[in-house]
Amino acid sequence: KTPTQAPLYALVEKAAALYRRQLREHPQANRAVEYLKQRGVSGEIAGDFGLGYAPPGWSFLLERLGRGPGEQARLLECGLIAEQDGRRYDRFRDRIVFPIRDRRGRVIGFGGRLLGEGKPKYLNSPETPIFHKGRELYGLFEALRSNRKLASLVIVEGYMDVIALAQFGLTSAVATLGTATTADHLKQLLKTAPEIVFCFDGDRAGRDAAWKALQIALPLASGHQLIRFLFLPEGEDPDTLVRRLGRDGFTALMASAQSLSDFLFDRLAEHGDMASSDGRKRVASQAQELASEMPAGIYRDLALERIAMLKGVSPGASARPRSRRPGRSA
Ligand code: ATP
Ligand code: MN
Ligand code: MN
Ligand code: MN
Repeated sequence: KTPTQAPLYALVEKAAALYRRQLREHPQANRAVEYLKQRGVSGEIAGDFGLGYAPPGWSFLLERLGRGPGEQARLLECGLIAEQDGRRYDRFRDRIVFPIRDRRGRVIGFGGRLLGEGKPKYLNSPETPIFHKGRELYGLFEALRSNRKLASLVIVEGYMDVIALAQFGLTSAVATLGTATTADHLKQLLKTAPEIVFCFDGDRAGRDAAWKALQIALPLASGHQLIRFLFLPEGEDPDTLVRRLGRDGFTALMASAQSLSDFLFDRLAEHGDMASSDGRKRVASQAQELASEMPAGIYRDLALERIAMLKGVSPGASARPRSRRPGRSA
């Protein structure tokens, strides 16, 4: 933002170029190339996303970009090297690196994946003066670049999800960077496309992340945009699923994504007792609490209608609400 950060952008860009080159030239890069191939990543997509390889060893970048004390200080500042007990060393070693670009296309940080099993599987750049995880979305620049007009944006969890979808021609996926979706993320996305679809992993963590995202989305769900949720079969993520179903299969599944209010009520119902009228009332009051977060508009109107139903309907009764209690300002 300030002119003083230009050297950091330049440095990170240099690192990205070096990593890209290693993927082609480093004597050990064949393992990285094999890994990417085995995951179905073509050279073309690797190029589009600027994928690279951080070679093994502790001082690849340090030696090339950290010759003077000023340079080393900057490498530290942008998280490319770390320091422990006075010793400085490369953060990313023997990993596939995914350059993270801001929406203008400037590289601001990296994600790095091991070439196999092990821990930690992914390593990300830390927060730095030019990289703020809560604001950045992996793949947004690439999505904007590939689409003149974005009809919808898909929010996924991982780098490889974005890349696998792009590999199948689905070029509108972005990933939060291993953090929860923030209000800032959502505001950006809602400004960028008329529809956003959350598509997290088909596991407990993914479903909980979707529920958290819903809560963040509530105050932003004005009805001018569609916010939907797609839940994947257990054990699948967008990467595995698009490989299994192909482009058309995945697109068809996308069409079945749930609306924000369906997800809201289904989730509460699942965690509540819908068989008793007390249980339904409890669910209704939980829903009411969430609905009170919504701005006036179609989503809140729909939610309030359903809340009235839940409060009014007794087992065996007709589906008409007995009494309707619209919210304060609906
Ligand atoms: P892959 O398909 O390469 O095994 P994934 O993206 O499916 O990876 P998940 O375990 O589903 O991996 O995690 C989702 C995302 O969360 C990752 O893409 C990464 O951004 C982040 N993440 C996962 N594990 C870690 C970790 N150990 N440290 C930091 N971030 C992580
Ligand atoms: Mn997961
Ligand atoms: Mn995953
Ligand atoms: Mn995965």
